[in-house]
Amino acid sequence: MHRNWTFTDLDAKIAAEFGDFLPATLFDSHAHLYRVRDMPEPVGALQSEGPANVTPRIWRSRLGRQLGPERLAGALFMPFPVPGADPALLNRRLLEDLDREPGSRGAVIITPNCRREDVEALLAHPQVIGFKPYHCFAPGSDTSQASLREFVPELAWELAHERGLVIVLHIVRHAAWADPDNQRTLLDWCERFPGARVQMAHAARGFHAPNTVRHVRLLASLENVWFDTSGICEAPALVAILRECGHRRLLWGSDFPVSEIRGRCVTVGDGFVWLDGDSVKWDELPALGQPTLVGLESMRALREACETVGLSRAQLRYVFAGNARRLFGL
Ligand SMILES: [Zn+2]
Repeated sequence: MHRNWTFTDLDAKIAAEFGDFLPATLFDSHAHLYRVRDMPEPVGALQSEGPANVTPRIWRSRLGRQLGPERLAGALFMPFPVPGADPALLNRRLLEDLDREPGSRGAVIITPNCRREDVEALLAHPQVIGFKPYHCFAPGSDTSQASLREFVPELAWELAHERGLVIVLHIVRHAAWADPDNQRTLLDWCERFPGARVQMAHAARGFHAPNTVRHVRLLASLENVWFDTSGICEAPALVAILRECGHRRLLWGSDFPVSEIRGRCVTVGDGFVWLDGDSVKWDELPALGQPTLVGLESMRALREACETVGLSRAQLRYVFAGNARRLFGL
């Protein structure tokens, strides 16, 4: 059985390894919620195999299996952006979920053609603390190579600067943070809008670890840039962030429900591959081992990174909750 959203004996065994590592309180800085019916057909394997309504309650129960439900204090929730979905509908659902989850916060989708008055109306919700721009809302058909300017509207920077909001930034293009256009654009914006706070998702999208390892130093002096660990299953990018930027700027994030995928993401050649049920026929491989869940793989990577740089228990508490509390104003 190699399905997503399951929890096997192996998963339980690996989860138990984290008992002495994890602090008592975890705040998840990167988690997604959705209703399958709000997504355009056909939906991906992760959506079709999981619950129809992915709510904070599901987040707590499923992630709780991996990390202990009593540890989960709250999350920064965001919609699950997919091409062709209606951002206004996804944002409305997020606000409904936040109403029932007062200990959590939300980041709303912002797109190049949104209107200022609509965005300001969303910001009136007291738990909305930032924006989630996403490349799939850029113009054109292949948005995986989109420039930041094509999917992060200047309006997001203006509002974030004025109000101290967070922009959760999932950069794209082949080289991610090693891409000169991404570097120029972000450094320019951070200088023009110093009041905005930037959360570089997925360790500056360091799924190909060297992209982050070699270039994260460029962000070391920018006090308004943070990084989340979500979805990262290898230690090197996390080690580089801790070494160059320090433990006060790294935030643990689960990337739920990506944490429910059975497999992991690995650096390969000049890019990366998600090893999952779509790309790997686990049943046909020589049985040298069984895959576990991305949430557990990424926790292993984070543990390895924290141990490599020698973080103290007190420093770990910042990574797992304290930094998020400060950044999200909790
Ligand atoms: Zn995510």
